[in-house]
Amino acid sequence: MQNWRSRFRKKKMEYLKMYDLIIIGGGPAGMTAALYAARADLNVLLLERGVVGGQVINTYEVDNYPGFPKINGAELMMHFSEHVEQQPVEIRYEEVTDVELGETIKCVRTYNGEYEARAILYCAGASPKPLGVPGEDTYRGRGVSYCATCDGAFFRGRTVAVVGGGDTAAEDAAYLARACKQVYVLVRKPYMRAAASLQRKLKELENVTIMYETVVREVQGDGTFVNGVDIIRAGQEETLALDGVFAAIGIVPETGLLKGKVDTCTQGFIATDEYMMTSIPGVFAAGDVVQKVLRQIITAAADGAVAVTGVLRYFDL
Ligand code: NDP
Repeated sequence: MQNWRSRFRKKKMEYLKMYDLIIIGGGPAGMTAALYAARADLNVLLLERGVVGGQVINTYEVDNYPGFPKINGAELMMHFSEHVEQQPVEIRYEEVTDVELGETIKCVRTYNGEYEARAILYCAGASPKPLGVPGEDTYRGRGVSYCATCDGAFFRGRTVAVVGGGDTAAEDAAYLARACKQVYVLVRKPYMRAAASLQRKLKELENVTIMYETVVREVQGDGTFVNGVDIIRAGQEETLALDGVFAAIGIVPETGLLKGKVDTCTQGFIATDEYMMTSIPGVFAAGDVVQKVLRQIITAAADGAVAVTGVLRYFDL
């Protein structure tokens, strides 16, 4: 049986193209890794299920990527992708459904087929964390949103709240303030953790009100659309009348494909060594999906570059 299996596998291998590296995910980490891998003469395949660029393409304005002050997120990612396209990188727009992490060969399956490589780099990123309060699921897409740049235009002239106190909440609130009548920022602590420059910008906007020590208890609606949120503010229960709620309370790593296969840290982020290698030799991870102290475009890109250095070291090159 074993012989039959190995003969079959050997035969199949003759038909499958063997890559040095398969990168899963085409955000800043994946695209940077593709660039570095191609420049190192690795035979690389990048698999992306949607469009390249990752979460950044939903950022209206990026002001902390050196060399590109105040650039639109999608535009910055377009520069990344144009740069990658100058290199011999094979990009396929396919969703990965499964990975098999063999000792020497890693197999990646998509809805379209199967690919094999000597190493894989997982850069699947993260998705927005839900609020986890009653009413959120009922009004998801009907006033509850997780993407200000995607949905903000529907709330022109309306009153909305952004929940959260990090960089995303601050950026979303500033973006929404351009079109909305009033934007409340609901922060559960007595302070925001967003970058000081973002906080300063918010405070200069007349139609933005930051409400500290405010926790959302429930999203309310008229059965069709959101019409408010129940909050506890400094210990007092209140209802805030609103037309929309934007959740910006952090991210959940997209570890699905590697779940249970590699070691993870708190909140499910993937643990890596200094070369971005996971607990399985030949399996690397980079970007928002890994455990680290700072999640920004520049650190995702840096992770991608470091990971390729790790891949070369793993190959003993
Ligand atoms: P963060 O984890 O940085 O911030 C989450 C915020 O939401 C915190 O204020 C947190 O409060 C609050 N929060 C968490 N859970 C709840 C809850 N259940 N109810 C109410 N509030 C809650 O997430 P972000 O999405 O802002 O950022 C993710 C990463 O991406 C960060 O590393 C950030 O720096 C980065 N980023 C960078 C950008 C840039 O460089 N331009 C832009 C956007 C994001 P508390 O403080 O109390 O924990």
